[in-house]
Amino acid sequence: MVSGMPDRGESGARGPVRTCIGCRKAGSQDDLVRLVADSSRRVIVDFRRVGHGRGAYVHPRPACLKKGLRTTVLKAVLRIPEALVPDPEAISAEITGLVMRRMAGLISSAYTTGNLQVGNEAGRDAVTNGLAKLLVMALDAGPSSKAEKAALRARVPILRVGTRSWLGERMGRKEIGAAVVTDPGLAAALERAGRLLPVEE
Ligand SMILES: [Zn+2]
Repeated sequence: MVSGMPDRGESGARGPVRTCIGCRKAGSQDDLVRLVADSSRRVIVDFRRVGHGRGAYVHPRPACLKKGLRTTVLKAVLRIPEALVPDPEAISAEITGLVMRRMAGLISSAYTTGNLQVGNEAGRDAVTNGLAKLLVMALDAGPSSKAEKAALRARVPILRVGTRSWLGERMGRKEIGAAVVTDPGLAAALERAGRLLPVEE
């Protein structure tokens, strides 16, 4: 969930365009998840889009997954029998796991490379100094923190993900509610990953 990002719309011209097998709308490849069949014809999420063979694209939203996995398109494209059509909930859980793992890696590398300002006050200062590219806030962090208020004022994007202990674990701490990413590349990668979290719109 990323708020404060410019709305690029359905036809936003970012990279290759693919069609979702659920809602049948075309959109940027970055907003869609690629599904492929493995050697035993089991459907898996090709998160890094490196899997060989044919793939089907779907929005990670529950509605698109539910509709998309039922379609004959999926079976035809991935050449799988009815019996191997996966459960939308299982695919959704797989996507969530992959996105969270990717985010964990990105946050840890921001921390170890000195591109993360940890905590509310450091985060607020990074926003005020114009260094902040993205504010990461735990879902169970208190509302209207100093860093959040500053980010909203300065229009710094806010990514809400994980719990305080999940966020803290990324930097070997107990609980962290907020952290600011100052590297533009890492911030963009986190923002891209955040768009793939399966949430209802
Ligand atoms: Zn869709």
